Amino acid sequence: MTNELKKIECDPMCGFMVRSHDEKELIEIGLEHAKKFHKEIKVNENDLKGMIKAA
Ligand SMILES: [Zn+2]
Repeated sequence: MTNELKKIECDPMCGFMVRSHDEKELIEIGLEHAKKFHKEIKVNENDLKGMIKAA
């Protein structure tokens, strides 16, 4: 685990983005976002892990 800043970006149509040094936090926030705004899309932790990029 490095301490670099990371981000998860949602669909460009949505425009949501979250940045954190903490992958767990990114995933938690991403899951919450998906639940609230994308009920029709089933996203799990592994999907979100795959979406993490360097910020
Ligand atoms: Zn979104």
